[in-house]
Amino acid sequence: MPSLYDLTLAQLETLLDSWQEPAYRARQVWHWLYQRLVTSFDEMTDLPLRLRARLKEHFALGRLTPIAEQHSADGWTRKWLFQLPDGSQIETVLMEYDGERRTVCISSQAGCAMACSFCATGQMGFVRNLRSGEIVEQVLWAARALGDERLSNVVYMGMGEPFANYASVMESIHRLTTPASEGGLGLGARKITVSTVGLVPGIRRFAEEGGQVNLAISLHAATDELRTKLVPINARYPLHELVRAAREYIERTNRRLSFEWALIEHVNDTLEQAQALVELVRQTNPRPGVNLVHVNLIPLNPTDGYSGRAPQVARRQAFVNVLKRAGIPCTLRVRRGIDIAAGCGQLRARHKKNG
Ligand code: SAH
Repeated sequence: MPSLYDLTLAQLETLLDSWQEPAYRARQVWHWLYQRLVTSFDEMTDLPLRLRARLKEHFALGRLTPIAEQHSADGWTRKWLFQLPDGSQIETVLMEYDGERRTVCISSQAGCAMACSFCATGQMGFVRNLRSGEIVEQVLWAARALGDERLSNVVYMGMGEPFANYASVMESIHRLTTPASEGGLGLGARKITVSTVGLVPGIRRFAEEGGQVNLAISLHAATDELRTKLVPINARYPLHELVRAAREYIERTNRRLSFEWALIEHVNDTLEQAQALVELVRQTNPRPGVNLVHVNLIPLNPTDGYSGRAPQVARRQAFVNVLKRAGIPCTLRVRRGIDIAAGCGQLRARHKKNG
């Protein structure tokens, strides 16, 4: 059975129109779904009973069944492992930052075909693309879990490669950004970030269609030899092509973008890599003196299938210093929820191992 969350507002309008419902009905339903965040048709109390029954006959609502839930010891990170009706599993993580920002990290695919060596999802392989509604539902789940607090940001940094499921991801963004005046969730596009492994055609399309949505590129290495080891898709879209696409993205959109870099001791935390990264950032910026590239450094989250580990603090700092001296804005992120395996794909991996 299809889910109501898979429909665009226009599709719902067309459908309800074909059922001879008045024109305002679609927004009414939309409002229940995306503002009141209800989980059943019975809660849509201002709809006529016969319409509720008809909707129930044709559509499912929630398709996420939580099969594991974890809270970090500090209470700021929550993570869910969900099962979908076909048995595939995805993860969603909610992170709160000092009561200010509340960010949900969502999956775009069950599993992932990109096979990045250090990534738990990459180690598990590809299962299937998510439908737009399955992506959107993760956000609604987090919004409900927050109660009175408002969700502020959405990042497509859970399982999967968003640009390998491009259409559904763009549809989900559209759904999330539908303004509150139309009954939607009304998230600002600037509060949403899509993270890609570096699929060049996807970056090109996104430059045209992404609007104000932020883009992050998972770089992790600044030489082709090393990057292909960590991120195999680099063999297909090597660094010079990736950097060109990133530069064109900035030129076209005038927006900043970020490079993601998981620091791995003695692998990509060397001064040579830091210097090569400085050079890549220079090539990515369209004009000298203007810096529109931000580097996000995150110490590696250990995974079973990869022997690398996060560098010691002194080595992290030395890497940061090379970037700082070159005037490149960068953030050394703290690992969140490491005690609950909140890294991409890790909860599923652990759940499986334990039975
Ligand atoms: N496919 C997208 C989204 C993946 S997850 C992408 O590649 O960007 C979001 C980020 O987490 C990516 O930068 C990914 O490389 C990173 N990541 C994956 N496994 C990690 C680990 N074990 N430690 C630190 N970062 C990791």
